[in-house]
Amino acid sequence: MFKITAKTILFISLIGLISACVTNIAGRKQVMLVSESSAIQASKQAYVNTLSPLEKAGKLNNDAKLVKRINRITDKLIQQAVAKRPDSRQWEWSVKVIDEPEVINAWCMAGGKMAIYTGLINKLSATDDEIAQVMGHEISHALANHSAERMSIAMANNLALSLLKSSTEASDQSMSLAAAAAQIALTLPNSRKSESEADILGIELAAKAGFNPNAAVTLWQKMAQAGGNGGPEFMSTHPSPENRQQALKKLIPQMMPLYKAANKNK
Ligand SMILES: [Zn+2]
Repeated sequence: MFKITAKTILFISLIGLISACVTNIAGRKQVMLVSESSAIQASKQAYVNTLSPLEKAGKLNNDAKLVKRINRITDKLIQQAVAKRPDSRQWEWSVKVIDEPEVINAWCMAGGKMAIYTGLINKLSATDDEIAQVMGHEISHALANHSAERMSIAMANNLALSLLKSSTEASDQSMSLAAAAAQIALTLPNSRKSESEADILGIELAAKAGFNPNAAVTLWQKMAQAGGNGGPEFMSTHPSPENRQQALKKLIPQMMPLYKAANKNK
């Protein structure tokens, strides 16, 4: 009897979760199993869990000049992020430089917890403008709720699995719900769609923060070149949307006035 009750609760909560449909900052509807606020909560713990072993291994960069440089860039981007999404003012924004000279990577979790790896800065000989493009892109993933979206996909897979495992008697109901969960995961927007959203929003944030939009193109060129030996970590988590460089190039003329306006008063 208890078994049935537990299963019923799982079904009800699954149905309740599936109904959460939100529209992100890019105007796209997202089907969510994880709310953004839960993703932000979960990310706070994930950030600590990610950074503490690195700190113990002495891999958190404390080169004052470099840390200051990165903070100066991200502070300007955060200002623009908050202008775009005022509620993100409440986020506990922070950035760490991770000492991994071979790792070309950067990320921003839900809630504004960021990191950039020394491999990206040094191996790409990244300029301030290029660093602003990569961090603007990462911040845009967080602003557009992509972190919660990816968590939802993982949750859907896990829920489907746990439902399958729990239903040793394999009732029709449990099978169809498990299938529904798996199907939702499949019908979630392609991650290349998320990449395009982050590209468009990222170049805009960077331009408004006073960083040259042309750097978005050179950044991805450098990234592609560095991809020769198995590819940088960054490329595996950020699949290239079709014609990424051309799409960014097309955006430059409309970004130039924003960039020039931001630098006018300097
Ligand atoms: Zn991306």
